[in-house]
Amino acid sequence: MISNIDLGINFAYVVSAVMFIFGLKMLSSPATARRGNLVSAAGMLLAVVVCLLNVGLDYKWIMIGMAAGTVIGLIAAYRVEMTSMPEMVALFNGFGGIASLLLAWSEYHQHPALSVFIAGVTFLTAFIGGITFSGSMVAFGKLAEMISSRAVTFRGQHIVNGLILLATLVFGVIFSMNPAANYPVFLLVVVVSLLFGITSVIPIGGADMPVVISLLNSYSGIAACAAGFVVHNNILIVAGALVGASGIILTNIMCKAMNRSLVNVLFSGFGSNAQAAGDGPQGEIRPATAEDVYYILEAADSVAFVPGYGLAVAQAQHVVRELGDILEKNGTEVSYAIHPVAGRMPGHMNVLLAEANVSYDQLVEMDDINPQMDSIDVCVVIGANDVVNPAALDDESSPVYGMPIIETFRAKTVIVLKRSMNPGFAGIQNALFFNDNTRMYFGDAKASIQALVAEFKDSV
Ligand code: NDP
Repeated sequence: MISNIDLGINFAYVVSAVMFIFGLKMLSSPATARRGNLVSAAGMLLAVVVCLLNVGLDYKWIMIGMAAGTVIGLIAAYRVEMTSMPEMVALFNGFGGIASLLLAWSEYHQHPALSVFIAGVTFLTAFIGGITFSGSMVAFGKLAEMISSRAVTFRGQHIVNGLILLATLVFGVIFSMNPAANYPVFLLVVVVSLLFGITSVIPIGGADMPVVISLLNSYSGIAACAAGFVVHNNILIVAGALVGASGIILTNIMCKAMNRSLVNVLFSGFGSNAQAAGDGPQGEIRPATAEDVYYILEAADSVAFVPGYGLAVAQAQHVVRELGDILEKNGTEVSYAIHPVAGRMPGHMNVLLAEANVSYDQLVEMDDINPQMDSIDVCVVIGANDVVNPAALDDESSPVYGMPIIETFRAKTVIVLKRSMNPGFAGIQNALFFNDNTRMYFGDAKASIQALVAEFKDSV
């Protein structure tokens, strides 16, 4: 017999789930994304409050946990630099994974005589949660450059990883058949899962970390979903499944944006042969001053800004918009070309430009700008490098070969804003910089654009 309280709780969970789904849907457009985030967060608050109404809980520890988590989360969210957001997401994923693992462990510790089904999902929760935690910590370390971001590979690595995976699955089966008598086997599962997370992320290069983080995000959802079965909580199952599915979809979108398969990302060791600065294409560059660039822009009918990671580092989004406004007043058609993996996280450029109130209609996706490229007078590449590297199209030996790029080299003139000839994230030199139609405008992107704005203002 289902009690009225159970009915009420499940009804509230359905409302939460609907709010998650609408919130996710709203995230797909920049115009509604902010509200979508709030709707999902409100759905989560409802789910947490309803879950805590459960009688018989020890609120003291829950409150201590919530207070500590809220304080740490708030401080971290306020202090994190936009450029460090992927590291923060990696940490969040890792904590999600370890939370699921600990939940499964605690449930098993209290009630070791589990049914085969619950023992199976307890094993899966610990296994996936463990991989998510240690894998995310490695991803965090690579992005924060606490450990080498290069792909660490050795002979027979796939065999070693395969054996670790096989061993974990064998332990999982032994544990699930008789959980009450196999506490040490469960502990082995925990240890081997943590080990597998490390050994499976170590061979992946820093340039592929965004995809890995997205995949680990999906894993954290699957672990939470499995944990929902362990503790019989419907909303945890639903929320975990949503995170798991959306993480996989995002992973797929990112792989497509780089024209790579997930198997290639996970097993190719991309980045292990990255060139040192100074290797790769060489030639004569044509440096330009603020005054030179001013004359080029002043005479242009159409200008496309192509932002990349350097825009985020320089925090140049506000001055770029100011320059864009000046150019529009000058009668120039202005657009912002967005590459799906420009910067260090999906949507990085959209977020920065939205912060500077650049109109959404001026943002043009890579696939829409490339066909127009021959007719664009000037492409201003602002701290982008890999996403405009023509080697992706024509150099089969390049680590970025096959990745779709914004084809700025086809514009009439290309102006590249960066501080030096140093390579970008993939660690390779860029032939674009040596083309006859490219001018290099060296300096911090914000200072360089401020100088251009000053040139325009002085000329009035
Ligand atoms: P890149 O990392 O290829 O290049 C960034 C360029 O910005 C560098 O060449 C650097 O040159 C320049 N730069 C840095 N700081 C400044 C500054 N203050 N002023 C001016 N220029 C500056 O960036 P892209 O956006 O082109 O490509 C993104 C890369 O990152 C891809 O390889 C992608 O796969 C990877 N990636 C993507 C993620 C995502 O989800 N978007 C996440 C993680 C990685 P210099 O030092 O000379 O100034």
